[in-house]
Amino acid sequence: MIVVKVGGSAGIDYDAVCADLAQLWHSGKKLILVHGGSGETNRVAGLLGHPPRFITSPSGYTSRFTDRQTLEIFEMVYCGKINKGIVERLQRLGVNAVGLSGLDGRIFEGKHKDSVRSVENGKVKVLRGDHTGTVEKVNTQLIELLLGAGYLPVLTPPAASYEGVAINVDGDRAAAALAVAMKAEAMLLLSNVPGLLRDFPDEASLIRSIPAADVESYLEFAQDRMKKKVLGAAEAVAGGVGRVIFGDARAGQPISAALAGAGTVVQ
Ligand code: ADP
Repeated sequence: MIVVKVGGSAGIDYDAVCADLAQLWHSGKKLILVHGGSGETNRVAGLLGHPPRFITSPSGYTSRFTDRQTLEIFEMVYCGKINKGIVERLQRLGVNAVGLSGLDGRIFEGKHKDSVRSVENGKVKVLRGDHTGTVEKVNTQLIELLLGAGYLPVLTPPAASYEGVAINVDGDRAAAALAVAMKAEAMLLLSNVPGLLRDFPDEASLIRSIPAADVESYLEFAQDRMKKKVLGAAEAVAGGVGRVIFGDARAGQPISAALAGAGTVVQ
């Protein structure tokens, strides 16, 4: 079982990812795809007159402030446009894909964080009305049912809170929780960079390998949202996933290349 997470940044080639995924699926590999949609969500939110608001926590993590309207736009793009676009591509390639959010069947479950701390002009502010959280529990029954019947699950945030409220969760960490729960042999985090770069954005500074016991010490190289990937990788390997690979989804055969050792391998 391999969990593939493909991001939502500009430059990601979903056609290339789906073609590669389909080929591996037809060769008998068990796969689950998790995807993001941040770039497109920002664009659509702007068009709808509700541009994204990003906040930085006191510990330096950047996230989207998700009020109710943002959550609804987020769902339109992630669960609608991006999810169905991927499912359609896979269906055209002869893969019987089923697209679901973490809310469906409570696949991804976690605690709703209504208020969030944000650093603005050097001061810490508390913002309320946030629909975010972290995946704490993965309910695998529905996924196992689908895989057992020959369907390829295509999953996306949001998750369900314990009260059943939709919450925006980080896709990389959701994929990590899924990989642990499914006892995946590998998890791929594909984005628009060759892997973790020691000196971002210099692509020649690619870090080729990271020892599993040492992942968190590499957080210093990651800026912004790349930090969540490093954190997700640490959580996955700590939870028993054999290896995590940060790979490039801009062209070629992103999944096969990563499995063959391209990108940054955490093992
Ligand atoms: P996605 O939505 O595709 O999963 P994110 O935007 O969440 O991707 O994270 C990937 C981004 O992280 C890259 O596009 C890059 O701009 C940024 N980044 C920050 N630091 C690094 C680094 N050290 N190595 C690679 N990418 C980095």
